[in-house]
Amino acid sequence: MKFVLATQNPKKREEMAAILSGLGVDIVTEEELGVRVEVEETGETFGQNAALKAKAVMEATGLPAIGDDSGLCVDAMNGAPGIYSARYGGEELDDAGRCALVLEMMHGQTDRSAHFETVICCAFPNGDWFAAKGDCHGSIAFAPMGTGGFGYDPIFFLTEQQKTFAQLSAEEKAAISHRGNALRAFRQKLETYLKNHPEASA
Ligand code: IMP
Repeated sequence: MKFVLATQNPKKREEMAAILSGLGVDIVTEEELGVRVEVEETGETFGQNAALKAKAVMEATGLPAIGDDSGLCVDAMNGAPGIYSARYGGEELDDAGRCALVLEMMHGQTDRSAHFETVICCAFPNGDWFAAKGDCHGSIAFAPMGTGGFGYDPIFFLTEQQKTFAQLSAEEKAAISHRGNALRAFRQKLETYLKNHPEASA
């Protein structure tokens, strides 16, 4: 059965197809279907934004659709950048600029706890939907460290590993990350849904 992934990012497609392997699920992107759905992320939570994306793409294509939303939440910044993680500080900043801005906001802060969160939502044409969440707890480093990954990885420090996300290999990161955890929870929920709704995969 075909599921559309609400993303323009081919890496996310590969990652989703890999985690769902063996479930009889075929992941296609909007691009592969020749559609591009502009979704305004007006939600106030990761879950609301993931659901907005999944539902809009499901409605535009008539196929079950998967949407996701992630971000970094810093306790001492009242949960910022949160749902605004991708555009924190304005469009002109790049990943390094956003990391520098968070470090500046955290200057002199002793409570440096933070977490990443991902919510993945799946919406079906019959109106059914479900969501899976994953998180990963750590703290904001005092300076960027490491060259791997993307986004806020160089400033997200893991106590157990004594490394930032940017100092881990892709496999090491996926084993503990918010996204890895959300993907694994999502696979379980989808497997259960398909078992209970055999007509959905007919
Ligand atoms: P998205 O919803 O997965 O596109 O993530 C939104 C934004 O959150 C990204 O543009 C990054 O700034 C940030 N982000 C999400 N996941 C990660 C991660 O694993 N590492 C670093 N930054 C992330």
